[in-house]
Amino acid sequence: MKIRIQPVEPAKRRPKPADESKLVFGKTFSDHMFMMDYKGEKGWQDPRVVPHQVLQMDPAAMVLHYGQGIFEGMKAYRCSDGRLHLFRPEKNFERYNRSAAKLCMPQIEVPFQFEALYELLKLDKDWIPHSMGSSLYIRPTMIASEPHLGVRPANEYLHFIITGPVAAYYPEGFNPVSIYVSDQFVRTVRGGLGEAKTMANYASSLYAAEYAKKKGFTQVLWLDAVELRFVEEVGTMNIFFRIKDELVTPPLGGSILAGITRDSVIQLAEHWGITVHQRPIEIGEVIDAVRSGDMKEIFGTGTAAVVSPVGSISYKDQSFKIQNGAAGEWSQKLYDEIVGIQYGEKEDPFGWVHELKV
Ligand SMILES: *Cc1c(COP(=O)(O)O)cnc(C)c1O
Repeated sequence: MKIRIQPVEPAKRRPKPADESKLVFGKTFSDHMFMMDYKGEKGWQDPRVVPHQVLQMDPAAMVLHYGQGIFEGMKAYRCSDGRLHLFRPEKNFERYNRSAAKLCMPQIEVPFQFEALYELLKLDKDWIPHSMGSSLYIRPTMIASEPHLGVRPANEYLHFIITGPVAAYYPEGFNPVSIYVSDQFVRTVRGGLGEAKTMANYASSLYAAEYAKKKGFTQVLWLDAVELRFVEEVGTMNIFFRIKDELVTPPLGGSILAGITRDSVIQLAEHWGITVHQRPIEIGEVIDAVRSGDMKEIFGTGTAAVVSPVGSISYKDQSFKIQNGAAGEWSQKLYDEIVGIQYGEKEDPFGWVHELKV
């Protein structure tokens, strides 16, 4: 499939951010976007790079009514020597297809996803910010565009990629978060959509997130929806516990998103000789380990923050500090290593970095 290119006229280009450190996540967008349409038996049609624009959609478009939609979140990094990097992008593309399958949506071949991103970034590479820690956030999205008010998988879809520069997540070093263990509200359930990156999971997280915020906490720690007993994720991140000198993270059982940062942390820790257990962990065990002092660190992992240390945890109206609320040694070490690999400043023994030659 040939990708059509319609560049923005030079006079209509958007201004680049004056101060990269002041960028608010998800508010600034690059000049172009990638789009293509899926039409029933004809499959994917008319792939194109066009100016970032408002979408035309029928108000009966199925995504607006039944939430049939998926997305991805990835980043492009500019190294100090000018090289451009993506971090394990094939993992995002493969996960996009797994999410699509779960939502009864069509697949996009991984090589073509690379081609689309390349064509887009060829035009917008100057939007990849320069300061250390900043990056270009990339958001591939697929929605059901068919106008039809009956419940079934749509026959028509729109796939697009938008991008925008984002500031460093920690301009002044780690900022440990306070987490609220939700024992009333759940994000998803085994057999549900938890392992797909779909809009519905975010919709079902909002109420609990607001509830926790009103109580003064930054993030929600999600428990399993059946027994409200086993830990699943934190906010929109995977979660890790350092108990004594081992790492524990919940196993991917269908309700947990298979984070690429999660997988990277596991591989890196094991590479360093740390034992990592992917096993169910009860909230009771977490609180006991915090009380006894065996809990050395808790941290979340995701593309946005890479590693997000947890400074305190609140469960059933009792609040506990984790190691005096300071970021742990392993959190810092894992963060430094992954960020170092992403920006080409540390060796990449796993072949995670994909050099973007545009
Ligand atoms: C995207 C996401 C993550 C993190 O995945 P990464 O691939 O590490 O960015 C974790 N949990 C949820 C619910 C997510 O949507």
